[in-house]
Amino acid sequence: MSLLTDAVRISSADPPLNYDSPAALRAFLEAQGLGMRKRLGQHFLINPRARGHLLDALDLSPGEGVWEIGPGLGAMTFGLLEQGLRVRAFELDSGFCQVLTQLFGDNPRFCLVPGDVLKTWPQAGDERYLLGNLPYTIGSRLVGALIEGRRFFTRMVVLLQRELVQRMIARPGSKDYSSFSVLCQSFYTMSPLSVLKGPSFYPAPHVDSQGLRLELRADVRPDSYSPLFQPLVRRLFASRRKTINHNLYDYVVSTILKTGGLEAQEFTRKALERCGIPENTRAEALDGETFAALAALLEGMKLHI
Ligand code: SAM
Repeated sequence: MSLLTDAVRISSADPPLNYDSPAALRAFLEAQGLGMRKRLGQHFLINPRARGHLLDALDLSPGEGVWEIGPGLGAMTFGLLEQGLRVRAFELDSGFCQVLTQLFGDNPRFCLVPGDVLKTWPQAGDERYLLGNLPYTIGSRLVGALIEGRRFFTRMVVLLQRELVQRMIARPGSKDYSSFSVLCQSFYTMSPLSVLKGPSFYPAPHVDSQGLRLELRADVRPDSYSPLFQPLVRRLFASRRKTINHNLYDYVVSTILKTGGLEAQEFTRKALERCGIPENTRAEALDGETFAALAALLEGMKLHI
């Protein structure tokens, strides 16, 4: 406990803890009776330049509000509050929550949301920016859930497993292109940031991480998307080696007509023809706009059945 009280007595411009030193973090955790939980993807970012780059990429002015996902012991929370931002921090580890409350609880610009962010985010506030060194365990699920739940941010800056970043930014026709790429690219313009190796973290993970900035696309109106869009994209990628004709037929049979045979074949053929998609194309060759057009067309055709 004394480590913390000594720490918070120092000047408000100094971090309350030495966030760059594994030895200091270990000693602090020990003094608090806390440990690290691998299951929660706990890897502190101990590289101050990398933390600075992420905060710079967020590029906010004092007074703006930001969600911070998985603040841990508050290394980046400190930086956000120092910039005069309002921070809504989502943390699952109850020991870390206690530390965060002791460190930042008196700051009226800090608000802690304890618990699993996958469950707590739908009830949280309307801040327009998001920052997070996301735990590997929930990175894709959280980004996917926010987009599918139509909870959009003007800008998000996240640190993720490098492979996941590659999948999110993959272009049509490449091996990493997936339904998740389509989902992310349909709503956000993404810029990959630096790759970070194990030693930038404590404890060091076995995989590389990479920063990613996501800017909400100004040319897209999320509410114009058909509700069929996401299920359709997922379905068309489910058997990615099969042609779109085959996968769309399955989708039409199971979701739209509820029966197979000639009628479903004709329905599928017409939809592809009206969208200008050759029958032997594979989903991996299509971009987000084409999927969106196909979903909108199917929705219209469904109304006329
Ligand atoms: N932000 C700190 C840093 O950069 O040093 C810690 C990042 S660490 C990779 C991920 C953090 O997310 C941990 O503090 C972990 O407890 C928290 N976490 C893991 N799963 C979570 C969940 N489902 N909801 C909220 N926080 C979670």
